[in-house]
Amino acid sequence: MSTQPDTIAAISTPPGPGAIGILRLSGPRSLEIAAKTFCPLGPKALTDHAPRTLVYGDLLDAGGEPIDRCLCTFSRGPQSYTGEDTAEFQCHGSPMVLSLGLEALFALGARQAGPGEFTRRAFLNGQLDLAQAEAVGDLLEARGREGARHAAGQLSGTLSRRIGDIYSALVDVMAHFHAVLDYPDEDIDPFRLEELSHTLEEQEGALDHLLSTCRRGRQVTRGISCALVGRPNAGKSSLLNALAGYDRAIVTDIPGTTRDTLEVNVELGGVPVRLIDTAGLRESDDPIERLGVERSRSAMEEAELILVLWDGSAQVTEEDGDLLQAALKLAPTILVNTKSDLPSAPIPFLSLNPMPPVVTLSSKTGQGLSELEAAVAAQFPKPEDVPYGQLLTNQRQEEAARRARQAVARARKALEAGVTPDALLTDVEEALAALGELTGQNVREDIIARIFSKFCVGK
Ligand code: GDP
Repeated sequence: MSTQPDTIAAISTPPGPGAIGILRLSGPRSLEIAAKTFCPLGPKALTDHAPRTLVYGDLLDAGGEPIDRCLCTFSRGPQSYTGEDTAEFQCHGSPMVLSLGLEALFALGARQAGPGEFTRRAFLNGQLDLAQAEAVGDLLEARGREGARHAAGQLSGTLSRRIGDIYSALVDVMAHFHAVLDYPDEDIDPFRLEELSHTLEEQEGALDHLLSTCRRGRQVTRGISCALVGRPNAGKSSLLNALAGYDRAIVTDIPGTTRDTLEVNVELGGVPVRLIDTAGLRESDDPIERLGVERSRSAMEEAELILVLWDGSAQVTEEDGDLLQAALKLAPTILVNTKSDLPSAPIPFLSLNPMPPVVTLSSKTGQGLSELEAAVAAQFPKPEDVPYGQLLTNQRQEEAARRARQAVARARKALEAGVTPDALLTDVEEALAALGELTGQNVREDIIARIFSKFCVGK
């Protein structure tokens, strides 16, 4: 950034009334604007207070009238979130107070911040690297405890340090070959070559380990997609509601009422799960329902977990059996016998290989729901060897790590084949560039823009 940045302002708390509402300012004119909008109660002017303390006083609207009695704090760059001068007003969480306050900030020359602009400035000013900035987004949107802990770990720099270790080992390799290029007459020590090859192999291993975390990373950030399937009336909507703890789906006893698919995020046995309730899987002449049936088939095909529901109070049909067989071919499956509070119909002897876990439950009484949670947790055990914050959680990170891994593997093979140092250096440089993308050292502007546009305004 060559030109002086402008001063941005935004409401940083969610819309609607709340206990506290926060207005935020960042940029070179923050302190001047804050001092004009905020009148401390004591004798000292705002900026005569120490930075990063809370000052009590009146927030003034654009006409200079008090609109709230609140707290203000300011920080001088670079000791702030964005690395610039910043100020924050902790007001009463009244949408009116916040919008009048924001108008006052605009009237004094601040402009509305775009989505993620505060964090983007933090990144551009070197307060956070890109992996940490992405962790901010993951933390805000965490769907479960594990996801939140991983995001917090990544934010504190765990992933960045891991990548930094690989980076610096590769820089050492590169330094060696630059020296070889500079002094071509000197013999290369074979022992040193073996050592370098070993270093490259270790980095390949470290990148493989990182890449092996992608699946879990996707699951903890996005949630495991779980299709609830079964014949109409098997109890899918009732189970979804019982698990979600509120009535999200319409439950009726007319077969085929859940025509569309419904999605609800829940945490089952510590695993974040996106429950997808599908329309009853049955052939239908009704065009709307047929669309629903197609959707449920595709939901099953895309699911990472399938709950096949059999109505425990009714005879098991051939269709129930076919559905279970189909599910088992597609994804980890749990067979759920529903309505355990009703007299149960005889369950046929199942001889399946592998045999899916079977859970008997009642959505009406809640009996068996904790067994279902345990069965889900058993399907997705938490990896033991991955500390919090060392997961690759999105496609961008995965692609960059994969490119780095491929380039390191090429460099190692080249070294073993006795290729010239300059060819080898090209591969190592490519690996370094890909690692740099992970932490944002050399990432393209459009990619940065895309990452921060997903953030909310005020973050
Ligand atoms: P879906 O078509 O598979 O989504 O099934 P629903 O969840 O709409 O349930 C069909 C009918 O079974 C409704 O009348 C529910 O009230 C009833 N039902 C679902 N689960 C239970 C249960 O655990 N116990 C009892 N007694 N009835 C249930």
